[in-house]
Amino acid sequence: MTTGPDPNYRHPKCYANLHGGCSTKISGEHYISHSLIKLYTFDDPDVKVKHNNGFGIRQDVSPKNFVVNALCTNHNTALSVTDATALEFAKFLRGIAIRFLGGAGEWGNREEIIISGDDLERWALKLLLNHAAGKAFSANKGQVRSPIPPVAVDFLLGRTTWPFGMGLCVAGDPANTDIPYDPFTNSEHSTTNFWGARPILWSEDQTLGGGIVELNGVGFGLSLFPIFRGYTEVKGVKNPFRGSLERPDYMEWNLDGIGKRVNFTWSGPTDHRYVVYTMTTKAKV
Ligand SMILES: [Zn+2]
Repeated sequence: MTTGPDPNYRHPKCYANLHGGCSTKISGEHYISHSLIKLYTFDDPDVKVKHNNGFGIRQDVSPKNFVVNALCTNHNTALSVTDATALEFAKFLRGIAIRFLGGAGEWGNREEIIISGDDLERWALKLLLNHAAGKAFSANKGQVRSPIPPVAVDFLLGRTTWPFGMGLCVAGDPANTDIPYDPFTNSEHSTTNFWGARPILWSEDQTLGGGIVELNGVGFGLSLFPIFRGYTEVKGVKNPFRGSLERPDYMEWNLDGIGKRVNFTWSGPTDHRYVVYTMTTKAKV
């Protein structure tokens, strides 16, 4: 007697194995999408990627060694749509940035794209989970074991609707330096320093509670628990989400009245806010 693949199989090394559906093979999942690594490094096999996760590994690593081996091939494939969305976002901003050259080049015409906010939200979550599963977050020179709460896997797999109050958020207050919003001034954001991931860990057991990920100089906050977006400090620590906008309709960078806009579609609830970052050019001498 022969049987097909077991739909309930849970690969012990796959962090998305909560409900089965695993393949028996583990994929070479990258910490950050391989398509993004290729975009920012022009496919140069010798290039080193700066792994800037705030608390974690700080030495440069080659992309091919940049794998976490913490998702099975089934789940990795199922999540590749999220990588495609992040790539669309990155290509749009990076294309503008390399023409603009930090102000020395051309800003060009009005442009906009529409991308899936749901998939970008899941991509940001996956980036944080990859690091947690790979024990890539460290503090006090040691690895931090940051357990993944089951609800995070349900959000990742789209099994649970991510409630409003915890969704992807972007900078709404320019004074909040925890969520960066300027993809165009610093050229490193379009080359070597194109991403980052900073976790928020529960102090008791280091469980992953959310975090801020960066792509091409733009920060996205995520939370796995209800948060507030106000300015109250806790034990002298500022709330990293202060003044942020959750699930915006769009974010736009505007120079001299010409906008570059990223529109988001959301299947879940939003409050239909948007943000326009008005850029100023330095006076030419
Ligand atoms: Zn799996």
